[in-house]
Amino acid sequence: VSAPLFEDLPGDISVSFEFFPPKTEKMEEQLWDAITQLAPLDPSFVSVTYGAGGSTRERTHSTVSRLVRETSLVPAAHLTCVGASKDEIAEIADQYWEAGVRHIVALRGDPPPAQGGVFTPHPEGYSGAADLVAGLKARHDFDISVAAYPEIHPEAASADADLDNLKRKLDAGANRAITQFFFSTDAYFRFLDKALAAGIATPILPGIMPVTSFAAIRRMSGNTEIPGWLEKMFEGLDERPGPRALVAAVAAADLCRRLYQGGVRDFHFYTLNRAEQAYAICQLLGLRPKAEA
Ligand code: FAD
Repeated sequence: VSAPLFEDLPGDISVSFEFFPPKTEKMEEQLWDAITQLAPLDPSFVSVTYGAGGSTRERTHSTVSRLVRETSLVPAAHLTCVGASKDEIAEIADQYWEAGVRHIVALRGDPPPAQGGVFTPHPEGYSGAADLVAGLKARHDFDISVAAYPEIHPEAASADADLDNLKRKLDAGANRAITQFFFSTDAYFRFLDKALAAGIATPILPGIMPVTSFAAIRRMSGNTEIPGWLEKMFEGLDERPGPRALVAAVAAADLCRRLYQGGVRDFHFYTLNRAEQAYAICQLLGLRPKAEA
Protein backbone atom coordinates (compact mmCIF):
# COMPACT_ATOMS: atom_id res chain seq x y z
CA VAL A 1 0.00 0.00 0.00
CA SER A 2 1.51 3.37 -0.98
CA ALA A 3 1.89 6.30 1.43
CA PRO A 4 -0.71 9.09 1.53
CA LEU A 5 -0.04 11.49 -1.33
CA PHE A 6 0.22 14.62 0.77
CA GLU A 7 1.75 13.14 3.90
CA ASP A 8 3.97 15.45 5.93
CA LEU A 9 4.39 18.24 3.41
CA PRO A 10 5.87 20.99 5.59
CA GLY A 11 4.51 24.00 3.71
CA ASP A 12 7.98 25.47 3.19
CA ILE A 13 6.79 27.10 0.00
CA SER A 14 6.06 30.56 -1.20
CA VAL A 15 3.10 31.36 -3.40
CA SER A 16 1.83 34.14 -5.62
CA PHE A 17 -1.62 34.63 -7.14
CA GLU A 18 -2.81 36.08 -10.44
CA PHE A 19 -6.15 37.90 -10.74
CA PHE A 20 -7.87 39.69 -13.60
CA PRO A 21 -9.49 43.14 -13.34
CA PRO A 22 -13.26 42.90 -12.82
CA LYS A 23 -15.77 44.24 -15.35
CA THR A 24 -18.84 44.57 -13.14
CA GLU A 25 -19.64 45.32 -9.53
CA LYS A 26 -20.51 41.68 -8.94
CA MET A 27 -17.16 40.56 -10.36
CA GLU A 28 -15.44 43.19 -8.24
CA GLU A 29 -17.05 41.68 -5.16
CA GLN A 30 -15.94 38.19 -6.21
CA LEU A 31 -12.38 39.39 -6.80
CA TRP A 32 -12.12 41.05 -3.39
CA ASP A 33 -13.63 38.04 -1.70
CA ALA A 34 -10.90 35.90 -3.35
CA ILE A 35 -8.16 38.37 -2.36
CA THR A 36 -9.41 38.46 1.23
CA GLN A 37 -9.45 34.68 1.45
CA LEU A 38 -6.00 34.21 -0.09
CA ALA A 39 -4.19 37.09 1.66
CA PRO A 40 -3.56 35.13 4.91
CA LEU A 41 -1.41 32.70 2.89
CA ASP A 42 1.08 35.57 2.76
CA PRO A 43 1.73 35.57 -1.02
CA SER A 44 5.05 37.03 -2.14
CA PHE A 45 3.07 39.08 -4.69
CA VAL A 46 -0.35 39.21 -6.33
CA SER A 47 -0.56 40.11 -9.99
CA VAL A 48 -3.33 41.74 -12.02
CA THR A 49 -3.59 41.01 -15.74
CA TYR A 50 -3.86 43.49 -18.59
CA GLY A 51 -6.59 42.84 -21.16
CA ALA A 52 -5.75 42.07 -24.77
CA GLY A 53 -4.83 45.23 -26.65
CA GLY A 54 -4.60 47.23 -23.44
CA SER A 55 -8.38 47.00 -23.13
CA THR A 56 -8.30 46.94 -19.32
CA ARG A 57 -5.77 49.72 -18.80
CA GLU A 58 -7.96 51.69 -16.39
CA ARG A 59 -9.37 48.65 -14.62
CA THR A 60 -5.94 47.07 -14.12
CA HIS A 61 -4.72 50.36 -12.72
CA SER A 62 -7.64 50.80 -10.35
CA THR A 63 -7.42 47.20 -9.07
CA VAL A 64 -3.69 47.54 -8.45
CA SER A 65 -4.13 50.94 -6.78
CA ARG A 66 -6.81 49.53 -4.50
CA LEU A 67 -4.44 46.71 -3.52
CA VAL A 68 -1.86 49.34 -2.57
CA ARG A 69 -4.36 51.44 -0.63
CA GLU A 70 -6.29 48.74 1.19
CA THR A 71 -3.96 45.80 1.70
CA SER A 72 -0.38 45.07 2.69
CA LEU A 73 0.01 42.73 -0.31
CA VAL A 74 2.68 43.38 -2.92
CA PRO A 75 0.83 44.05 -6.18
CA ALA A 76 2.32 43.33 -9.59
CA ALA A 77 0.73 45.08 -12.58
CA HIS A 78 0.78 43.30 -15.93
CA LEU A 79 1.64 45.58 -18.83
CA THR A 80 1.82 44.83 -22.57
CA CYS A 81 3.30 46.52 -25.64
CA VAL A 82 0.16 46.15 -27.77
CA GLY A 83 -1.22 49.35 -29.29
CA ALA A 84 0.89 51.70 -27.15
CA SER A 85 3.74 54.07 -27.95
CA LYS A 86 6.82 54.19 -25.75
CA ASP A 87 5.58 57.53 -24.41
CA GLU A 88 2.26 56.01 -23.39
CA ILE A 89 4.03 53.11 -21.66
CA ALA A 90 6.28 55.61 -19.87
CA GLU A 91 3.20 57.47 -18.64
CA ILE A 92 1.63 54.25 -17.33
CA ALA A 93 4.93 53.25 -15.70
CA ASP A 94 5.19 56.67 -14.01
CA GLN A 95 1.62 56.39 -12.70
CA TYR A 96 2.37 53.00 -11.20
CA TRP A 97 5.62 54.17 -9.67
CA GLU A 98 3.90 57.21 -8.14
CA ALA A 99 1.12 55.00 -6.77
CA GLY A 100 3.74 52.92 -4.98
CA VAL A 101 3.65 49.94 -7.35
CA ARG A 102 7.11 48.42 -7.69
CA HIS A 103 6.48 45.16 -9.54
CA ILE A 104 5.53 44.91 -13.23
CA VAL A 105 4.83 41.75 -15.23
CA ALA A 106 6.18 42.87 -18.62
CA LEU A 107 4.68 41.19 -21.67
CA ARG A 108 4.46 41.66 -25.39
CA GLY A 109 0.78 40.80 -25.38
CA ASP A 110 -1.37 39.21 -28.03
CA PRO A 111 -2.61 41.25 -30.99
CA PRO A 112 -6.32 42.10 -31.17
CA PRO A 113 -8.18 39.60 -33.40
CA ALA A 114 -8.77 42.40 -35.95
CA GLN A 115 -5.02 42.30 -36.72
CA GLY A 116 -5.35 38.71 -37.88
CA GLY A 117 -3.48 37.33 -34.91
CA VAL A 118 -0.13 38.78 -35.99
CA PHE A 119 1.65 41.08 -33.57
CA THR A 120 2.60 44.36 -35.22
CA PRO A 121 4.46 46.80 -32.99
CA HIS A 122 3.02 50.29 -32.59
CA PRO A 123 5.07 52.59 -34.89
CA GLU A 124 6.51 54.32 -31.82
CA GLY A 125 6.19 51.32 -29.55
CA TYR A 126 8.18 48.42 -28.18
CA SER A 127 8.94 45.47 -30.45
CA GLY A 128 8.51 42.84 -27.75
CA ALA A 129 8.83 42.03 -24.09
CA ALA A 130 12.66 42.22 -23.97
CA ASP A 131 12.52 45.72 -25.40
CA LEU A 132 9.75 46.66 -22.92
CA VAL A 133 11.75 45.37 -19.95
CA ALA A 134 14.72 47.53 -20.98
CA GLY A 135 12.44 50.58 -21.37
CA LEU A 136 10.77 50.09 -17.98
CA LYS A 137 14.07 49.45 -16.23
CA ALA A 138 15.56 52.64 -17.73
CA ARG A 139 12.64 54.64 -16.34
CA HIS A 140 12.28 53.18 -12.82
CA ASP A 141 13.95 50.43 -10.85
CA PHE A 142 10.96 48.09 -11.03
CA ASP A 143 10.99 44.47 -9.92
CA ILE A 144 10.08 42.81 -13.23
CA SER A 145 8.61 39.43 -14.08
CA VAL A 146 8.36 38.05 -17.62
CA ALA A 147 6.64 35.13 -19.32
CA ALA A 148 8.27 31.79 -20.11
CA TYR A 149 7.00 28.84 -22.15
CA PRO A 150 8.13 25.32 -21.14
CA GLU A 151 6.36 24.00 -24.25
CA ILE A 152 7.57 26.86 -26.48
CA HIS A 153 5.69 30.00 -27.49
CA PRO A 154 3.56 29.22 -30.57
CA GLU A 155 5.29 31.96 -32.61
CA ALA A 156 8.86 30.99 -31.71
CA ALA A 157 11.06 29.75 -34.55
CA SER A 158 12.47 26.99 -32.32
CA ALA A 159 12.87 25.98 -28.68
CA ASP A 160 16.37 27.47 -28.68
CA ALA A 161 15.18 30.77 -30.18
CA ASP A 162 12.47 30.97 -27.52
CA LEU A 163 15.01 30.34 -24.76
CA ASP A 164 17.31 33.00 -26.27
CA ASN A 165 14.38 35.39 -26.10
CA LEU A 166 13.78 34.55 -22.43
CA LYS A 167 17.46 35.15 -21.76
CA ARG A 168 17.24 38.54 -23.50
CA LYS A 169 14.33 39.50 -21.23
CA LEU A 170 16.27 38.52 -18.13
CA ASP A 171 19.47 40.17 -19.37
CA ALA A 172 17.43 43.35 -19.94
CA GLY A 173 16.72 43.39 -16.20
CA ALA A 174 13.82 41.05 -15.42
CA ASN A 175 14.11 39.37 -12.03
CA ARG A 176 12.04 36.24 -12.59
CA ALA A 177 9.98 34.39 -15.15
CA ILE A 178 6.52 32.91 -14.71
CA THR A 179 5.53 30.04 -16.97
CA GLN A 180 2.53 29.48 -19.14
CA PHE A 181 0.41 26.80 -17.48
CA PHE A 182 1.39 23.21 -18.19
CA PHE A 183 0.30 19.72 -17.16
CA SER A 184 3.54 17.84 -17.77
CA THR A 185 6.12 18.08 -14.99
CA ASP A 186 8.61 16.57 -17.45
CA ALA A 187 8.13 19.53 -19.81
CA TYR A 188 8.73 21.97 -16.93
CA PHE A 189 11.81 20.23 -15.51
CA ARG A 190 13.32 19.75 -19.00
CA PHE A 191 12.82 23.48 -19.57
CA LEU A 192 14.51 24.34 -16.24
CA ASP A 193 17.49 22.16 -17.20
CA LYS A 194 17.79 23.84 -20.60
CA ALA A 195 17.48 27.28 -19.04
CA LEU A 196 20.20 26.47 -16.53
CA ALA A 197 22.44 25.14 -19.31
CA ALA A 198 21.83 28.43 -21.19
CA GLY A 199 23.13 30.33 -18.17
CA ILE A 200 19.77 31.43 -16.75
CA ALA A 201 20.00 31.60 -12.96
CA THR A 202 16.86 33.61 -12.20
CA PRO A 203 13.81 31.83 -10.75
CA ILE A 204 11.30 30.38 -13.22
CA LEU A 205 8.03 30.04 -11.31
CA PRO A 206 5.61 27.38 -12.51
CA GLY A 207 2.24 28.86 -13.44
CA ILE A 208 -0.44 26.55 -12.03
CA MET A 209 -3.88 26.54 -13.64
CA PRO A 210 -6.57 24.53 -11.85
CA VAL A 211 -8.87 23.45 -14.66
CA THR A 212 -12.24 25.11 -14.15
CA SER A 213 -13.42 24.78 -17.72
CA PHE A 214 -11.91 22.16 -19.93
CA ALA A 215 -13.23 23.84 -23.08
CA ALA A 216 -11.48 27.09 -22.08
CA ILE A 217 -8.24 25.28 -21.31
CA ARG A 218 -8.31 23.67 -24.74
CA ARG A 219 -8.89 27.11 -26.32
CA MET A 220 -6.09 28.80 -24.36
CA SER A 221 -3.58 26.00 -24.42
CA GLY A 222 -1.47 27.07 -27.44
CA ASN A 223 1.39 24.57 -27.43
CA THR A 224 0.57 23.19 -23.99
CA GLU A 225 0.05 19.46 -24.22
CA ILE A 226 -3.13 18.22 -22.56
CA PRO A 227 -2.34 14.63 -21.60
CA GLY A 228 -4.92 11.99 -22.52
CA TRP A 229 -5.22 10.87 -18.89
CA LEU A 230 -6.13 14.41 -17.82
CA GLU A 231 -8.75 14.71 -20.50
CA LYS A 232 -10.17 11.34 -19.37
CA MET A 233 -10.26 12.57 -15.78
CA PHE A 234 -12.69 15.32 -16.85
CA GLU A 235 -14.83 13.12 -19.07
CA GLY A 236 -18.53 13.89 -18.66
CA LEU A 237 -17.96 16.79 -16.23
CA ASP A 238 -18.69 19.66 -18.65
CA GLU A 239 -22.14 20.20 -17.11
CA ARG A 240 -21.13 19.26 -13.55
CA PRO A 241 -19.26 22.26 -12.13
CA GLY A 242 -19.12 20.95 -8.56
CA PRO A 243 -17.35 17.63 -9.23
CA ARG A 244 -15.30 19.32 -11.96
CA ALA A 245 -13.89 21.86 -9.50
CA LEU A 246 -13.01 19.09 -7.03
CA VAL A 247 -11.33 16.98 -9.69
CA ALA A 248 -9.45 20.05 -10.93
CA ALA A 249 -8.17 20.84 -7.45
CA VAL A 250 -6.96 17.26 -6.95
CA ALA A 251 -5.24 17.21 -10.35
CA ALA A 252 -3.52 20.57 -9.77
CA ALA A 253 -2.55 19.67 -6.20
CA ASP A 254 -0.95 16.47 -7.44
CA LEU A 255 0.93 18.43 -10.13
CA CYS A 256 2.22 20.77 -7.39
CA ARG A 257 3.17 17.83 -5.17
CA ARG A 258 5.27 16.35 -7.98
CA LEU A 259 6.87 19.74 -8.63
CA TYR A 260 7.61 20.01 -4.90
CA GLN A 261 9.24 16.58 -4.97
CA GLY A 262 11.40 17.86 -7.83
CA GLY A 263 12.60 20.76 -5.67
CA VAL A 264 10.14 23.53 -6.56
CA ARG A 265 9.32 25.85 -3.65
CA ASP A 266 7.74 28.85 -5.45
CA PHE A 267 4.31 28.43 -7.01
CA HIS A 268 2.30 30.94 -9.03
CA PHE A 269 -1.45 30.30 -9.27
CA TYR A 270 -3.79 31.46 -12.01
CA THR A 271 -6.80 31.95 -9.73
CA LEU A 272 -9.35 33.28 -12.25
CA ASN A 273 -10.51 35.36 -9.28
CA ARG A 274 -11.57 32.35 -7.22
CA ALA A 275 -9.93 31.45 -3.96
CA GLU A 276 -11.18 27.94 -3.18
CA GLN A 277 -8.97 25.85 -5.43
CA ALA A 278 -5.74 27.77 -4.91
CA TYR A 279 -6.38 27.80 -1.16
CA ALA A 280 -7.13 24.06 -1.06
CA ILE A 281 -3.98 23.24 -3.04
CA CYS A 282 -1.83 25.39 -0.74
CA GLN A 283 -3.44 23.65 2.25
CA LEU A 284 -2.57 20.21 0.82
CA LEU A 285 1.01 21.38 0.27
CA GLY A 286 1.19 22.14 3.99
CA LEU A 287 0.92 25.93 3.81
CA ARG A 288 -1.10 27.52 6.62
CA PRO A 289 -2.44 31.05 7.13
CA LYS A 290 0.19 33.32 8.58
CA ALA A 291 -1.78 34.71 11.51
CA GLU A 292 -2.85 31.24 12.67
CA ALA A 293 0.51 29.52 12.08
P1 FAD B 1 7.92 37.99 -26.11
O1 FAD B 1 8.81 37.51 -25.03
O2 FAD B 1 8.19 39.31 -26.71
O3 FAD B 1 7.94 36.85 -27.23
C1 FAD B 1 6.92 36.72 -28.21
C2 FAD B 1 7.35 35.74 -29.30
O4 FAD B 1 8.28 36.35 -30.16
C3 FAD B 1 8.04 34.47 -28.82
O5 FAD B 1 7.70 33.44 -29.70
C4 FAD B 1 9.50 34.79 -28.93
O6 FAD B 1 10.31 33.63 -29.02
C5 FAD B 1 9.50 35.59 -30.21
N1 FAD B 1 10.59 36.59 -30.26
C6 FAD B 1 10.76 37.65 -29.43
N2 FAD B 1 11.85 38.38 -29.80
C7 FAD B 1 12.34 37.75 -30.89
C8 FAD B 1 13.44 38.02 -31.75
N3 FAD B 1 14.24 39.08 -31.57
N4 FAD B 1 13.67 37.18 -32.77
C9 FAD B 1 12.86 36.10 -32.96
N5 FAD B 1 11.80 35.82 -32.20
C10 FAD B 1 11.54 36.62 -31.17
N6 FAD B 1 -1.23 38.67 -22.28
C11 FAD B 1 -1.97 39.81 -22.09
O7 FAD B 1 -2.46 40.39 -23.07
N7 FAD B 1 -2.16 40.32 -20.83
C12 FAD B 1 -1.63 39.74 -19.73
O8 FAD B 1 -1.83 40.23 -18.61
C13 FAD B 1 -0.85 38.55 -19.89
N8 FAD B 1 -0.28 37.93 -18.82
C14 FAD B 1 0.51 36.83 -19.02
C15 FAD B 1 1.16 36.25 -17.92
C16 FAD B 1 1.95 35.12 -18.07
C17 FAD B 1 2.65 34.53 -16.86
C18 FAD B 1 2.11 34.53 -19.36
C19 FAD B 1 2.94 33.28 -19.54
C20 FAD B 1 1.49 35.10 -20.47
C21 FAD B 1 0.69 36.26 -20.32
N9 FAD B 1 0.07 36.88 -21.41
C22 FAD B 1 -0.68 38.02 -21.21
C23 FAD B 1 0.17 36.31 -22.76
C24 FAD B 1 1.33 36.92 -23.59
O9 FAD B 1 1.11 38.29 -23.79
C25 FAD B 1 1.39 36.18 -24.92
O10 FAD B 1 1.78 34.85 -24.72
C26 FAD B 1 2.21 36.84 -26.02
O11 FAD B 1 1.93 36.16 -27.24
C27 FAD B 1 3.71 36.77 -25.81
O12 FAD B 1 4.13 37.61 -24.83
P2 FAD B 1 5.65 37.55 -24.29
O13 FAD B 1 5.79 38.60 -23.29
O14 FAD B 1 6.01 36.16 -23.95
O15 FAD B 1 6.41 37.98 -25.66
